[in-house]
Amino acid sequence: MSAITGKVVAVTGASSGIGEATARLMAERGAAVVLGARRKDRLDELAQDIRDRGGRAVACAIDVTRREDLERLVDRAVTGFGRLDVLVGNAGISKIGPVADLDVDGWSAMIDVNVRGVLHGIAAALPVFRRQGRGHLVTTVSTAGLKITPIMAVYAGTKNAVRTILEGLRQESTDGMLRTTSISPGYVSTELADSIDDPAVRQVIRENMAEFAIPPEAVARAIAFAVEQPDDVEIGDITIRPTVQD
Ligand code: NDP
Repeated sequence: MSAITGKVVAVTGASSGIGEATARLMAERGAAVVLGARRKDRLDELAQDIRDRGGRAVACAIDVTRREDLERLVDRAVTGFGRLDVLVGNAGISKIGPVADLDVDGWSAMIDVNVRGVLHGIAAALPVFRRQGRGHLVTTVSTAGLKITPIMAVYAGTKNAVRTILEGLRQESTDGMLRTTSISPGYVSTELADSIDDPAVRQVIRENMAEFAIPPEAVARAIAFAVEQPDDVEIGDITIRPTVQD
């Protein structure tokens, strides 16, 4: 039996990529999963597939930019499965491009989804974790925040904001109630490039992904590694990238 068996795990951005792979792996290892994203059809399909394989899953249409949607997601975990052990704050968009292009709408969208979305998750989950005396927050940040490169600055900034918030929260929470984990993936083969508006930039990222990205299942395994540790062991940061990525 896996240490994940019996846990209740909510995943944002579960309709594709890293979130979907994480939800599948958690369910495979015995967790009940609550799937959150906007594309309800994709979530319904995934939930059904997990149930067909003997797992436990429910779909919950949410937009992470709305605080009440995260409350609903957490509520689905508690009402459906009795508790929430792990929230994977994974939903994200990548409207990358040079800062000088002044894509103010793109910046706002990234701040809304990548930063506010995670904060909304924290706001919804923390009271439940406190009540239970235990909980685990996992967020998907990025190697873009570790090695700053042109065209990724604002995206990287949103990811580093989340990394900073989680580290601050960790330092405030040393009573053993909360575990926090920031996962920093490099190139992962997902639909993320679809959210890039600039066609030339989108093409470059797609080419990089096609050439050397690792599969989302690799990131899911890293998340599972953090989740399956005993309660007194916190895996704070994981960097996971293609071996050939510079
Ligand atoms: P995908 O595009 O496949 O997944 C992104 C997910 O976020 C989708 O499920 C999407 O679902 C969801 N999402 C986007 N906006 C919202 C919203 N407003 N409300 C709710 N859900 C939303 O890409 P990835 O799997 O790659 O991305 C997952 C995370 O990993 C992101 O945070 C990304 O920044 C990060 N990351 C990805 C890397 C990569 O190379 N792929 C590298 C480093 C980090 P829907 O559209 O249905 O709402």
